[in-house]
This record gives sequence, structure tokens and C-alpha cells, in this order.
Amino acid sequence: MTEQPSLSADLAGDVTPLMAQYLAIKEAHEGYLLFYRMGDFYELFFADAAKAAEALDIALTKRGKHLGDDIPMCGVPVHAAESYMEKLIRKGFRVAVCEQTEDPAEAKKRGSKAVVRREVVRLVTPGTLTEDALLDARSSNLLAALGRSAGDFALAAADMSTGAFWVAALSEGEIAAELARVHPRELLVPDGLLAHETLGAVLKACGAALSPLPSSRFDSAHGERALTAHYGVAALDGLGSFNRAELSAAGALIAYLELTQKGKQARLTRLKRVAPSHFMAIDAATRRNLELTETLSGARSGSLLSVIDRTVTAGGARELAGRLAAPLTDVKAIEARHVSVALLAADSELRSHLREALRATPDLSRALARLSVGRGGPRDLGNLRDGIRAARVLREGLTDIALQGEAADAANAIIQNIAAVSRVSDRLELLLVDEPPYLARDGGFIKSNVHAPLDELRTLAHESRRVIAGLENQYRQTANVPQLKIKHNGILGYFIEVSQQHGDRLMAMKDMFRHRQTMAGAVRFSTDELANLASRIAESAGAALDLERALFDEMTALALEHEASLGAIADSLSVFDVLVALAELAVASRYVRPSLDNGLGFRIGRGRHPVVEAALRADNARGFVPNDCDLSPGSKGRLWLVTGPNMAGKSTFLRQNALIAILAQMGSFVPADTAHIGIIDKLFSRVGAGDDLAAGRSTFMVEMVETAAILNQATAKSLVILDEIGRGTATYDGLAIAWAAAEHLHETNKSRALFATHYHEMVALCERLPAMTCVTMKVKEWNDTIVFLHEVMPGAADRSYGIHVAKLAGLPQAVVERAEDVLRALEEGREGHQPLARIDDLPLFGASAPTPKTNAVEEALRSVEPDALSPKQALEILYDLKRKLI
Ligand code: ADP
Ligand code: MG
Repeated sequence: MTEQPSLSADLAGDVTPLMAQYLAIKEAHEGYLLFYRMGDFYELFFADAAKAAEALDIALTKRGKHLGDDIPMCGVPVHAAESYMEKLIRKGFRVAVCEQTEDPAEAKKRGSKAVVRREVVRLVTPGTLTEDALLDARSSNLLAALGRSAGDFALAAADMSTGAFWVAALSEGEIAAELARVHPRELLVPDGLLAHETLGAVLKACGAALSPLPSSRFDSAHGERALTAHYGVAALDGLGSFNRAELSAAGALIAYLELTQKGKQARLTRLKRVAPSHFMAIDAATRRNLELTETLSGARSGSLLSVIDRTVTAGGARELAGRLAAPLTDVKAIEARHVSVALLAADSELRSHLREALRATPDLSRALARLSVGRGGPRDLGNLRDGIRAARVLREGLTDIALQGEAADAANAIIQNIAAVSRVSDRLELLLVDEPPYLARDGGFIKSNVHAPLDELRTLAHESRRVIAGLENQYRQTANVPQLKIKHNGILGYFIEVSQQHGDRLMAMKDMFRHRQTMAGAVRFSTDELANLASRIAESAGAALDLERALFDEMTALALEHEASLGAIADSLSVFDVLVALAELAVASRYVRPSLDNGLGFRIGRGRHPVVEAALRADNARGFVPNDCDLSPGSKGRLWLVTGPNMAGKSTFLRQNALIAILAQMGSFVPADTAHIGIIDKLFSRVGAGDDLAAGRSTFMVEMVETAAILNQATAKSLVILDEIGRGTATYDGLAIAWAAAEHLHETNKSRALFATHYHEMVALCERLPAMTCVTMKVKEWNDTIVFLHEVMPGAADRSYGIHVAKLAGLPQAVVERAEDVLRALEEGREGHQPLARIDDLPLFGASAPTPKTNAVEEALRSVEPDALSPKQALEILYDLKRKLI
């Protein structure tokens, strides 16, 4: 690969001034691909060019020489740069955007060889994106920083698009779950930490793009200064009290934002402290396994989120995903959500009014974020205007309605903040055209007749154009060339054009027509009058453009003065969207309001699996079979052992109860007839022999690591779902592990738990462990087939179903009979001893051993003598052999 030359080493040689500038800038931005602006392109050179050309699949070319060698180069047009950047960011690159920061004409004044001044205006990293083209509208894009001070840790996270900013103090053991909840796109870590034995692996596995930074950036005193500077306060006391690790994390994050935005201040709300205990702890394995936001194969469709998401705005979709990722543990806070959903679910008219207003809501948060870091355009201002408009419409529908809970708070916030932003909205409504363009560059976003000076300039330009149109006729007569035309292009500006044959006639009229250009078939001229008009047009159009840009800046500044209010409106609209969407879901899918308290109950009446139910509904197949689950104190048991043949519905039953708990605590209604849940502090879900080969660990090792985490962490307030653990190893040690895990859960963790197993032997545990009970999936035999009724009932599965299924599947009779013998021997062995010895005693394929069929083809082949055959005979034999095969 091409080396990236360094400036200091090369200065001795004769480096062109342009290359010297390039190398100096490149050296200051190590680790970034430098997008170096040259006219209408961003160019990349040397090693950057080679990497980008490969990643983007674009041509690698050459430009000039550097110290005698060709300089590899590739470029992307500025107007399409966003899509290229998106591709590069997705492939793990970071980009430094270097712009020309002066007019080339200015540079020329310094001498003909002077290089245009350039500066890096922004570092593009995965966690600091704001452009719609670079972001998924429906998911958040978080930047996080893991801070450390002595043995304490803290994770700070910020969402540039909503301004949300928070920090959580953590013990080392809590880091993995917190990372799983926050799910950052980019994670800043002190570089030393990656080498840390256990933590390094956790960080690498968290799915974020890791940005290691020197440890000095995580200095807590540094952090404190960065925070006070950002918030413009003398001391942090006013913001709350933060420990050293929290300051380290939050400070490093703020400093990084300033670094990447090149000093422009990203919009961040007041730093909030959160505690992991505010949320139901759900580790990464559990999230994956329950397919909360994506399926095991990585698709969004088929996940819980895809089934429950009925939001109609991008902000609402992000808020819903955020809530699903972080179910709450505070009963009051959850009920504030439930009470709002209940109210909206009961009022379909209100719901449809709100949805209509919400549908017209643009992505306010992201528009605001772009404006605040100086990357906004007229369309973003238009989004603010339309967002405020939508909020007004929404509010109007709420008069006379007594809201409660979160919806009431959101409505109040909207009412107050709409009043606060009236100056912004009046100004935007007055000035902006209906559909403003994306960029301010070319103007055209201020309405006519709303700004007199602008109108005047526009009229001037317009008038001059009319005069020019009139001139055409005049010149045709003067020159007596009816075909004469006045045209315009970017190089000559306005000019007069006649065909070759009439050229001489105008050439002769030297006083009037000045020759400009002779083309094949055409001759071009100018006049003083035309030149005057043209410059007047250019001047007034330029002045109009300047004025529009000034108005854009003025409107942006006004909006940013009201950033907090606009942000609050955006957040409240998102909250409304979520609440209405959950109410819609509850009505459409028959979900009920769960009741919650701080006890240890877990009683679900006729619960359903939201995703399987939706799939069955879509299939128009038979409906989902609801099932009860009661793990409450005083019920038959807080630990249920679920047995039953494959495909009977065990896994579905286990998962549906976990999903119901998550839905309830995130503030949603749940797919059941009744639900009572004592707040769950941690949720664990494991599936035996989960395939994690990608991470390079054996499946059984993974299974055991995950099981160990549960047994070490689950409490009496936790809910544990264990689906066939121990499956990943040989029968007896697998059984032994499953057995011991069940005992430990029962005796030590005392969690509410569902345990599905194919180890029939474990049924014996139900008699020994008082809080454990056995249930099984009901199965019916019918006309030689097995019908799974998907119904949970007390008891244990009939052991021989596996063999029965094998028979139905067409396994040879001999194999089925042998299996039955082996099973019987094993079962007897279970009561007595040495089951394996007994199996050895069994006659191997005794009477029923099949006699092998003689093979006709083989026999025929044996009798063939190839040397004695004519080609025709050989062919006949070949046909004959083929027939014998059938
Ligand atoms: P197991 O874990 O016992 O092998 P699963 O839970 O994977 O069985 O269920 C197998 C299939 O049976 C599911 O994919 C689903 O289509 C169907 N199923 C499971 N439970 C139910 C139910 N309660 N009602 C209807 N169909 C169900
Ligand atoms: Mg299963």
C-alpha cells in the first residue's frame, strides 16, 4: 500500500506549496481520511486515496509528482460527498473534511503561486453525525465515553440529534449491561483499557465503533473544566454533584464533540445522572436472544420492535426504540405511561386527531441539531416551522380533554413552549417559502412580498432581464439579422449570437458590436449596453443572494436562542407519538394494561407471544393459543420446569413471558387477558447451544459463560428464562449442569424462573424442590400424526415422543424398534444402576436386522469386459445400467 508521506521528512525536498499545505493538514489529523477540497471535488491523496478508492469502488488516478513519484489520487464530487462519506463511515473509517476558507481570488492577490487557504472544518465520526443522509431516521445515534477514576467507572452518552446527555456511575461488572442498554454507535475509551483482560473483551464485543483516546483526555479535572466551559458556569455545583469517574466520562465526551465539530457547540441538554437501577437490567445476550430490536439473523422485521412500532414520526420511532431498550423499574414512572396509554386507547377520536397532527411533524430534533453545529439549511428552518405548526394543531385537539400522566406533562410542555417560541414561528412563517431548498447557497427560500429590500433587488435583476429580452428585437432590426439571438452561458455571460454567414455584417458595425468569439457555425458579440445590464443583473442578484443568506443567519440565530424550547417541543411530540402508538397497538392487538407493584408476583392470564401471534395472524393460520403463567408467591411454584417434545411451544412460552415483562415495564400494554407483575430488576434469557462461532468461542463455552452470569447476578426480584441449557454437551454432563443450575436458582437466587428442558430426568427435581413445579405442553395423537396443542398443563411430558416423532418422520422400522429397546433399557437403568451396561447387553439389530439388498447395477458391471465391447454395445450397456438404477 502507498505510504503516507510525512511533511517534516519531505520539507527538504522540493514540495509544491499545495502539497506542503496538504501534508501539514494531513499530519494534524492522523487516523482520518482527509477530504481535501479542490473546486467542486474533495480529493484524497497517497494512502488515503488507495484506501478510499478500494472502499468506495472508485477509480484511483494520479496527480503530478511528489519527490519524483506519482501521487495516487481519488476524488468525490462535493455535491455527492454525503453518500460517499456514509459508505466510508459504515466501513469503519473516519473523515476529516477540509474546505477552502477563502476565495481563490483573494489568494491570487498574494501572488500567482499562492495557495488558497484551507482548514479542516469538521471531523466526521460514527457518533457525531447529523446529516439525514448519514443517519437512519428511526434509530438514535449515540456517542458514549467510558471514564475511569481509580477503580470507579462511568459511562457518559450523548445524542447529538436530540441533545440528550447523561452519565451513569458504574462498577466494573455493570459496564457490559449498561453498554448493551445504551448501544452506542461510537465509544470513546482510554486507550489503555482495550488491553485490559476482561474489560477489553467487553468493549470489543459491544458493537460500537471504538475510538481509543490518550488517557489524559479522560482526566477528571480536565473533564470538570470542559463541562463548566460548555455550560458557561463557574462551578459544576449548580448542575449536580458528580464523582470523578463521571466527570472523566462526561468531560471526555464534551471535549471530543468540540474537537470533531471544530469548536461549534453541539446542542446538549443539562447533564443528567442516571443509575443503572432505574432500568431493568437486560444484558446483551438476553437482548439478542429475545430479538428485541432485531432478529438473531440481524433483520429488523420479525423483532419485537417491528411488531409494536406504530409510531408515525422519526422522533417517535427513536423514542419507542429507546424505551424498549430501557424498561423502567419505578412503578410511578411506569404508571404515568400506562395511565396515558389507557386514556388514549379509550378515545379513538382523540387518537386519530393526534395522529393526523403527528403525521405532519418533520424531524424537528435533527433539524435543530444541524442548525446548532452550523450545518443547517433552509429546509431545517422549514422543519422547525412545520413542527411548531403541527404542535399547535395537536394542542388544539387537547382543549377540553383531561389528560393524565405522561401525556398531561407532554401537553403542558407543548403549550408552554409554543408560547415561548412564538417569535421564531412568526418569523419563519412570514419569510420562508413553503418548501425551502436543502442548501442556503443558491437562495430562493425567502418569499416574495415579505421583505422590501429583497424584493427591490429581485425586481432590479428581473427588470434587467426583461430589458435584455427587448434588446434582442432591437438588435435584430439594427443589424438586419432576424435570426440574431441573445444567449447566456457561464463563461461569457450574456452575448449576441449570429450564424457564420451574418458574422461579417456585425463585424462591420464595430461601433456597436464587439467581437467576442467565433465558433464553428456561429459568431458571438457583445455591446456596452448588454454588458451594463448583465453586470447590473449580477450585482443585484448577488446582493439579493447575500441578503437571503443574511436572513437565513438571522433566522437560525433566532431559532438557536430558543433551542431549549424547540427541543422540548420536539421531545414532547415524540412522547405523544409513542403514547398514541402504544394505544393504537393495544386496541388493534388486544393488549391489556398490566398492574405493577414492588412485590414478587408474576401472574399472566392467557398470555400471548406478540411476535409469533402477529406472524400467525398474518399467515391467516389458526390462532395463537394463549397460556397462563403464575410464578407468584403462594402459587404452585416460582420456578417452572417446562417439558415437552420439540416444536410443542416451550421456547415460545418462555419468551412470551419475558417479553410481557419488558413491555409492561417500558410502559406498554401487554398481550394477555390479565397481567400482574412485581417489578423485575434484571431479566435473563439463555438458550442452550446458541451459536456464537463468530466470536470465536465454542458454543458450549458461551452457554456456560452466560449461565454463570445468571447464577452470579440474578436476585429474588429477577426473572430468568433458561431454554434447554446444557444441550451443548454430552448428555450426562449436560444434564448434570442443568440440574445443578436449577437447584442453585431455586435455593440461592430464588428468582422467578421458567426452565425448559429436554432432560426428562429433571422432572424428579419437582418433588424435591418445594418452589419448583412441573408443566408440560399438551400434545395429541391423531390419525398417526402428532398434533401440538401449544397448551401448557401441569405434569411432565411423555418420554417416548421423540421416538414417536422419528417414526412419523419415516425413520426405518428397524431403527425405531432399536431406539425403543435402548430407551427401555435406559429407563430401567434410571431406577437401577449402570444403564450403559444394560444397553451393551441388548442384541444389536437382533431379529429385525435388515438383510442388504443385492445391487443389480454392481452385478451387471462386474460381468462387463470393456475391451471386448464395440462402442455401440458399450452405449447399450450404459442405457441398461441406467434402467437398473430405477
Ligand atoms: P419448542 O421450543 O417446544 O421446540 P417452539 O416454542 O419453538 O417449540 O414452537 C414451535 C412453533 O410452534 C412456533 O414456531 C410456533 O409457530 C408454534 N407455536 C408455539 N407456541 C404456540 C402457541 N401458543 N400457539 C400457536 N402456535 C404456537
Ligand atoms: Mg425450543
